[in-house]
Amino acid sequence: MQLVFATNNLNKIKEVEVLIPKHIKLLSLKDIGCFEDIPETQNTIEANAIEKASYIKKHYGYDCFADDTGLEVTALDGHPGVFSARYAGEQRNADDNMNKLLENLKLHSNRSAQFKTVIALQIGNDLQTFEGLCQGVITNTKQGEHGFGYDPIFKPNGFDRTFAEMDLNLKNTIGHRGKAIQLLVDFLNSKS
Ligand code: IMP
Repeated sequence: MQLVFATNNLNKIKEVEVLIPKHIKLLSLKDIGCFEDIPETQNTIEANAIEKASYIKKHYGYDCFADDTGLEVTALDGHPGVFSARYAGEQRNADDNMNKLLENLKLHSNRSAQFKTVIALQIGNDLQTFEGLCQGVITNTKQGEHGFGYDPIFKPNGFDRTFAEMDLNLKNTIGHRGKAIQLLVDFLNSKS
């Protein structure tokens, strides 16, 4: 079986390819000749994931899965959430996004937050979604060099390190995307 992972984010591909069983051939957007920006125009994380997977199925004909992720901060009423990528503007810059979040949280003592990933899988006309959550706190400063996005300011509950201070295996075991991927893998295994 072959499946397209609809992302251009190499960090996500690195995270996911070690978790997908060997009998599934993972194709990249490049592999299928897709070099365009895939639309992400919805107002929820789930709807964005579905939009991306359905777009690839409709326009390229491949079975596909896509993830969408957001960081939901309690003291900010769940923001940036679905707007996480563009939180500090259209340049989608991770440092700018983190700086804005740290600034907006400066006066709040409640630092709790969660990452939420939804993966949408489209095989033929069947659509399934899988959700992974990871609870934690937003640190006061950026810490660590690994990972991407908001990893340097997110410390998962039960750990004294940020995601950016962890190796990939640990982030995958406890993290939002790893949990959603595990549900996807369980589903695919149950079908084969
Ligand atoms: P998207 O799922 O690629 O749309 O991601 C939305 C935003 O969340 C982007 O700013 C990403 O950099 C960020 N993001 C997605 N996944 C992670 C993660 O695992 N760690 C930290 N930031 C992430």
